[in-house]
Amino acid sequence: MAFRIVACCTGCWACLPLCPRQAIRAAAPHFEIDPARCTECAGDYPDPQCASICPIEGAIVDAAGQPLNPPGSLTRLPPAPATPLPIS
Ligand code: SF4
Ligand code: SF4
Repeated sequence: MAFRIVACCTGCWACLPLCPRQAIRAAAPHFEIDPARCTECAGDYPDPQCASICPIEGAIVDAAGQPLNPPGSLTRLPPAPATPLPIS
């Protein structure tokens, strides 16, 4: 039961001080979550603190690889279409 930070993390530092388990490490090329320490904030907060402050959609994913902040969740913009729209 742990989340992961992936390549699109910009290393903004917002999440690191919020983690109640000191599970986040300032690593390169992107920050990392120690799976042995991450509890998904269970018992500490109702929501994962890292994902609640992360400004980058898709930077934090769950064990299944699903983003906690999926495309459009922060920007309110619809995800880009898989194929270009025809020009009329
Ligand atoms: S889900 Fe909670 S415990 Fe896990 S890394 Fe994020 S802030 Fe830390
Ligand atoms: S808040 Fe998001 S973008 Fe910023 S360091 Fe943490 S995971 Fe990376």
